[in-house]
Amino acid sequence: MTEKKMEVMLSAGEIDKRIRELAAEISRDYEGKSLFLVGVLKGAVVFLSDLIRYITVPLEIDFIAVSSYGSDTTSSGIVRIQKDLEQSLKGKDVLIVEDIVDTGLTLNYLYRNIQSRQPDSLKVVTLLDKPDRRKVDFNPDYCGFAIPDRFVIGYGLDYDENYRQLADICVLNSTD
Ligand code: 5GP
Repeated sequence: MTEKKMEVMLSAGEIDKRIRELAAEISRDYEGKSLFLVGVLKGAVVFLSDLIRYITVPLEIDFIAVSSYGSDTTSSGIVRIQKDLEQSLKGKDVLIVEDIVDTGLTLNYLYRNIQSRQPDSLKVVTLLDKPDRRKVDFNPDYCGFAIPDRFVIGYGLDYDENYRQLADICVLNSTD
């Protein structure tokens, strides 16, 4: 295996500060309502866990898993549901919680799929966005950080299922 070197892009402290701001904005926007959060497995688990502890409106959570990159770091463009939600979304105020928007293909598909389940409203929050990589026109309603076109790991994000437990978001560089 090629040796990898890690560089911190966003520290745990910066992430926490931004998540508090996002949660405050979301809590304001949904005041008087209750939220239904759809977490996208597995990458968004850490983000969702931290975000919900700062949201002040009542909320429920559920999870969906879609096919991802596997051990490759470029998007295949093929999206498949691997684990579906357990609850109906009809009449609910749904917020999709994603780790990162890259080409936009995953969220473009998920948004349409979830919209077809007739929620009352549907929005998307992503922790990270790589706008330079977009292949389809997709804009999240809430975004933590816009980042350059680098492959990142940590804070839930993996490389070949590793590194999800890192507290910081890091760039993984090959040393050769
Ligand atoms: P998209 O469909 O927008 O191209 O890709 C979305 C998914 O690709 C994300 O949910 C994530 O699983 C994966 N992905 C995209 N960029 C990165 C990255 O920089 N690091 C990691 N670990 N996953 C990424």
